[in-house]
Amino acid sequence: MNDAMRRAAAILLLVLGGVALWWAGSGAPASASANDAMVATIAAARERAAANDPRLKGASRFEEGGWIYVHLEGEPGAMGYQHGYLLAPEIEDGFAAVSAGMMHSTRRDWEFFRKAAHEMVWPKIDAEYQQELQGIVEGLRARTGSNLDVDDIVAFNAFEELPDYYVPWLNKRQMAANAPNLKSPGNCSAFVAAGSWTKDGQIVMAHNNWTSYRNGERWRIVFDIAPKNGYRMLMDGFPGVIASDDDFGINSDGLMVTETTITQFEGWDPNGKAEFVRARKALQYAGSIDEYTKIMLDGNNGGYANDWLLGDRKTGEIAQLELGLQAYKLWRTKDGVLSGSNWARDPKVLKVDAPEFDPGNKESSPNARRARWDELLKENKGKIDVALAQKMLGDHTDSVEKKEDTNERTLCGHVDGSARGVKEWAWQAYYPGGAVQGKATDATMAKDMRFMARMGHPCGGDFLAKPFLAAHPEFAWEEPYLRDMKAGPWTEFRSGQSPKE
Ligand SMILES: [Zn+2]
Repeated sequence: MNDAMRRAAAILLLVLGGVALWWAGSGAPASASANDAMVATIAAARERAAANDPRLKGASRFEEGGWIYVHLEGEPGAMGYQHGYLLAPEIEDGFAAVSAGMMHSTRRDWEFFRKAAHEMVWPKIDAEYQQELQGIVEGLRARTGSNLDVDDIVAFNAFEELPDYYVPWLNKRQMAANAPNLKSPGNCSAFVAAGSWTKDGQIVMAHNNWTSYRNGERWRIVFDIAPKNGYRMLMDGFPGVIASDDDFGINSDGLMVTETTITQFEGWDPNGKAEFVRARKALQYAGSIDEYTKIMLDGNNGGYANDWLLGDRKTGEIAQLELGLQAYKLWRTKDGVLSGSNWARDPKVLKVDAPEFDPGNKESSPNARRARWDELLKENKGKIDVALAQKMLGDHTDSVEKKEDTNERTLCGHVDGSARGVKEWAWQAYYPGGAVQGKATDATMAKDMRFMARMGHPCGGDFLAKPFLAAHPEFAWEEPYLRDMKAGPWTEFRSGQSPKE
């Protein structure tokens, strides 16, 4: 039998099964329940067929410490299918929350984003990632019968770049009247250290992800990826998205990667290649800081512009790649510390790519956290290791008020506790956002592909949705999506891990 015949036979079997059930149920008093039973039977048959798909071979999933760990391997299309199948419920849930946020902030409908994905983003995606994205759709549909298609999944993968980079650029070009106040996001506190700064002289890298709690509480996947081509990767990530996207990852050739975004970045190149594609490609194929830089620059579209913090455990060198659109700068050292909290520092990048950012305003979230990083890292020079890095990610010192607090200026961000919000990111007072999870690793751990991760605020504090929404009805639109974000324990993950017995 050829494929088409096999498919036709399978469909016929499904239909016959359904007819038999309808026949059996038609004599029953409640035909609605018979109909429900038929739908359930068809869904179960579909799930059975999907679970037996040979593309799932070698893939697995388990949950630990509030995280979902998935192992993907093989050809791009198969890895996509595994991703879509194993995380189908989380992808549907994540898509609903993320797409609602994209439409709410931009006042554009979903069709707008689908069109941008189809016409602008898709044609520049490398063939292997097109296959992987298509595979996600197939796995997802096979598992749940979802009607999301590849345009939906591509727009969703670009959720960090389309609403906050493309749309503001488009609004400016179209001189849109009453355009919403959109700002590039300020995501994350991070550092990478080496040489005399760390306890063992080797690289230490740590990162906490700042985002809306609505998105962040869903940013709880650990991806262990063994692609047919390129290096093995271990990274945190979002269900349905092919890049880490917040970002934190290591590869089997010794590269260690994280970043923080550039506050008040402006610019977009519609002919460029999406950031989520370049970032995934760089983690998969770069074996050095130079190779990483080259891949990120190739087709740079300006989307989700970051200060990349990199380490190469083979050489002990660390680097900061400040990647603007019109300008960029690379710093590198074997003895130093490079921190990030959403500020650019190269005068040219600031001038041409983030002209509104004020490096002199000590009270803003990026600059206050920069001062705290400087102080905290200096205090601990020569003592920095993974355990200390974990503590630093949960730090609550407000460098402006010189006291302990939980607000937008602490390394562990709690903007829901701040009447100031963060105007540079258009986060209004008490915005439900901040540090949503943290990760840390060092060269020794990276060598055997391990990192530590904590879901929820890295300090261990909980966010509770119900009392928050009662106190802040201005965020009522988030109610269908906003959930409790309870902190889990610091948990170690490694490549090739199986669930605990
Ligand atoms: Zn905290």
